[in-house]
Amino acid sequence: MAMADVTIYGAGIFGLSVAWSCARRGATVRVIDPYGPGAGSSGGLVGALAPHVPEQWNDKKAFQLDSLIMAQGFWDEVAQVSGHKAGYARLGRLQPVADDAALALARQRTQGAAELWQGMAEWRVRPRGDLGAWAPESASGWLIEDSLSARLHPRMACTALVAAIRAKGGEVLHEGAAQGRVVWATGVAGLEEINAQRPRAFGNAVKGQAALLRLDRRDCPQIFAGGALVVPHADGTVAVGSTSERDFDDPSQTDAQLDEVLARAEAAVPALAGAEVIERWAGLRPRARSRAPVLGSHPLRADEFIANGGFKIGFGMAPKVGAVMADLVLEGRDAIPDGFRPEASY
Ligand SMILES: Cc1cc2nc3c(=O)[nH]c(=O)nc-3n(C[C@H](O)[C@H](O)[C@H](O)COP(=O)(O)OP(=O)(O)OC[C@H]3O[C@@H](n4cnc5c(N)ncnc54)[C@H](O)[C@@H]3O)c2cc1C
Repeated sequence: MAMADVTIYGAGIFGLSVAWSCARRGATVRVIDPYGPGAGSSGGLVGALAPHVPEQWNDKKAFQLDSLIMAQGFWDEVAQVSGHKAGYARLGRLQPVADDAALALARQRTQGAAELWQGMAEWRVRPRGDLGAWAPESASGWLIEDSLSARLHPRMACTALVAAIRAKGGEVLHEGAAQGRVVWATGVAGLEEINAQRPRAFGNAVKGQAALLRLDRRDCPQIFAGGALVVPHADGTVAVGSTSERDFDDPSQTDAQLDEVLARAEAAVPALAGAEVIERWAGLRPRARSRAPVLGSHPLRADEFIANGGFKIGFGMAPKVGAVMADLVLEGRDAIPDGFRPEASY
């Protein structure tokens, strides 16, 4: 094959999205990951693409909105080029409203969404009784329904991206030499490598545990209730997540904390009752000190780039992360928000 224009280390959602975004613009790409695609945090179960609340607007929320809006076109193109679906669908999200104060706030946010989401999606407050058997319990009798949230299947998404990259003549390898410009999208390993060279921590791992149920609700919206995320997937499963652990002994083990998340989900969503748990999974989220994605020049490697810090929203951010990194790496065009630069985590 021709020499690569861009080499990307790391075949998680960030590395694969950057590689795909470069490949679709005509660049020859090489992705190298010794452990294979989806070996890290991106090989999980949940795949909720959900917005922050529509208020106190900032660069991060604006970037996330762009990315969520871009997602349909991004995943449609990946499916068309690769012949593989990512399990993407924008089916919205339901959240219970606890009491009168929360109801007033939810209604206020309807106004916020009308303005800040620019007519591209809605945030509505609806009586639970209007929303059918899938709806979660609600102490107030009301639910928030947004039409911006979407879901994808993390493993199907990684498989589809690998196939799309290869269809454009790119390589996804376990080992090989770097050619052309170099991007490091190595998740937690990449943050730890930077930590070792800096006086204070640049980022850290936050463990998460999730489970998969056999239950076909593929046309239903995701639910955030009882502190748990419940995400119906295209393949007739429902994911339930997640714990958030700064301290842990074993990054890959699941334990009683996951049982507790499952119990909360079942209490909040009666429709989950009796569904069989078919997988339990744990992984490490890459969290930068800034809590935002880390995009731009690599802090340690002159003339090389970094795409890291996906933390809890890496899949939702991926389409726009890919686009701005392709702008930077291929064209030298820098559209990265200041809060996403490595300096924000120093
Ligand atoms: C339980 C849980 C639930 C989550 N739920 C959601 C959700 O609902 N929605 C959402 O958007 N996000 C969610 N996330 C977060 C999301 O999974 C992460 O933000 C995302 O996967 C980070 O992607 P990444 O590519 O940066 O890292 P990773 O997926 O970890 O990829 C890094 C890759 O780098 C490779 N690597 C390491 N060292 C090297 C090296 N030296 N050379 C080459 N390759 C190397 C690794 O093998 C790995 O494949 C969740 C995470 C967890 C743990």
